[in-house]
Amino acid sequence: MLKNQYLKNVLADVEKRSGGEKEFLQAVTEVFESLEPVIDADPKFEKNGVMQRIVEPERMIVFRVSWVDDNGNVQVNRGYRVQFNSAIGPYKGGLRLHPSVNASVIKFLGFEQIFKNSLTGLPIGGGKGGSDFDPKGKSDGEIMRFCQSFMTELAKHIGADVDVPAGDIGVGGREIGYLFGQYKRLRNEYTGVLTGKGLTYGGSLARTEATGYGLCYYTEEMLKCMKSDSLAGKTVVVSGSGNVAIYACQKATTLGAKVVAMSDSNGYIYDPNGINLAVVKQIKEVERGRIKEYVNRVDGATYTEGCRGIWSIKCDVALPCATQNELDGDSAALLIKNGVMAVAEGANMPSTPEAIAAFQNAGVLFGPAKAANAGGVATSALEMSQNSMRYSWTFEEVDAKLHDIMVNIFHNSYNAAEKYGMKGNLVAGANIAGFLKVAEAMIAQGIAY
Ligand code: NDP
Repeated sequence: MLKNQYLKNVLADVEKRSGGEKEFLQAVTEVFESLEPVIDADPKFEKNGVMQRIVEPERMIVFRVSWVDDNGNVQVNRGYRVQFNSAIGPYKGGLRLHPSVNASVIKFLGFEQIFKNSLTGLPIGGGKGGSDFDPKGKSDGEIMRFCQSFMTELAKHIGADVDVPAGDIGVGGREIGYLFGQYKRLRNEYTGVLTGKGLTYGGSLARTEATGYGLCYYTEEMLKCMKSDSLAGKTVVVSGSGNVAIYACQKATTLGAKVVAMSDSNGYIYDPNGINLAVVKQIKEVERGRIKEYVNRVDGATYTEGCRGIWSIKCDVALPCATQNELDGDSAALLIKNGVMAVAEGANMPSTPEAIAAFQNAGVLFGPAKAANAGGVATSALEMSQNSMRYSWTFEEVDAKLHDIMVNIFHNSYNAAEKYGMKGNLVAGANIAGFLKVAEAMIAQGIAY
């Protein structure tokens, strides 16, 4: 519970003005609770109105996306782009295509992105976007027409030095290609306006792998520093089977762990011999199929309907990599009962506040999303640098930079938590370290009357 009156007043105002936006409120509340000792310690944040400014997006664009399906019928979706904070660089953040997308989801993701991007140490502000369009079951042609229509409006608001979107749920290499092609057609310019591009037209090596790899680099550093341990020999559960989950599974396995379970929104697979990632990649990346298909191809594996059951599997390390609020208090209790020692978030806000509190009270190491999954956006920023230089680094060069960035994120968060009397609380540490840089920049740049 907040005690600082300034923070209480700003949060009450957010509740009043954004009452129905439950994901956004959840994200703001968590950040405010972490920042209380920082706000208490220095009156300049209140004097400069930093908190009421930081919770208000600089700009929120909502637009109609109309497109024609394969049967010739007109379809209409709603598009969003929130340009939340540009204090330390151009807006940067992914585009999500999923039926659950609404203003609250986009605002929570954009708000989190401000602190995550700051934590990377790179000059990128916070943004996010997407649409309630459901890519499942759509043909290639329908995906292309949707992406083109979406970009027809979005192109008016973005640019390599203004706002640089990337992928997120439902937006991978194929969608970025269609979006980039349409931007180029409309603007007649070849710039790094999107990241996650294909390697033939300006993409960075290791961007596809970056979020999952970065998650494992962070987890490895957390285990090393806080438990003198490592991923080697650990049993790991990874939820999801998309971009983040697949490359988390790959890197964890390379580092000597055994990943025994993965999932999609229908259910989960359990493979006591260790997940055969080549089979998962074939099903999810090539065939765009369902995870249950795995058990028809790999002996000894089982499939269970319902994705939440994945947390009942005994493991040492849990890496939630699917979506927000996928791991609740009951799931956390099961993981703790089964002896989990570390949880690191690959997805954005996958753990509910009850789950986070349960892990922290039980002494389970907990790496929050805005630190643990920042490798994706960090490598996107490296893609921007390469585009500006019109030059490409090798896979090894990008991977080495990613590794260093993740190690720094861990230590900056750890040190910030310690400095403000919350040693070991990586949630608070990430929020504080990310916040301070943005807040200093906002104060330095003044207030526009
Ligand atoms: P993908 O679309 O590649 O994969 C998403 C995965 O999560 C799929 O397995 C999907 O299953 C599952 N999923 C989606 N919604 C739900 C749901 N409501 N319940 C259960 N499972 C669900 O997305 P990404 O891997 O890119 O993103 C996963 C998470 O990581 C998101 O929270 C995203 O914001 C975050 N993230 C991604 C980054 C990136 O670089 N891609 C960077 C930082 C964070 P199904 O196929 O059944 O829908």
